[in-house]
Amino acid sequence: MTDKHSAGGDIEAWCTKCKLALGHTIIAMVGNSPKRVKCNTCDGEHNYRAGRTEKKVRAASEKAPTRKLKSQEKNYNDYLSRLAGADMTNARKYSIKSDFKKDEVIDHPQFGIGIVVAVIQLNKIDVLFRDSHRLMVQNRE
Ligand SMILES: [Zn+2]
Repeated sequence: MTDKHSAGGDIEAWCTKCKLALGHTIIAMVGNSPKRVKCNTCDGEHNYRAGRTEKKVRAASEKAPTRKLKSQEKNYNDYLSRLAGADMTNARKYSIKSDFKKDEVIDHPQFGIGIVVAVIQLNKIDVLFRDSHRLMVQNRE
């Protein structure tokens, strides 16, 4: 992982469909800027619009790349310890229509097993996956 964005990489962007700042996959770059992205939640493709926290996140990771590595390691340890106490047999397939609760185990087709760290809003959850936290949508019709 480098600090620069590239096609195929993850980025937090504003989803025009979900109307939330969510994890996206970069489809196309123009220079050093993401141009087109695909929403990890609704699979919708649209032009890149920065999520609210994007500027802050980028500035921090540019300054301290080693800290970013450490935080990934911490993320993974956190992931393992949370999953150790979780009931894996009850992992539920992720769907934007589902209603997940804190500490529930999610089975996501793309990111694998994750655990709900927090329910941020009725329709927005913070899920910890093997490589990072991701904001996911739930309770969508
Ligand atoms: Zn979306």
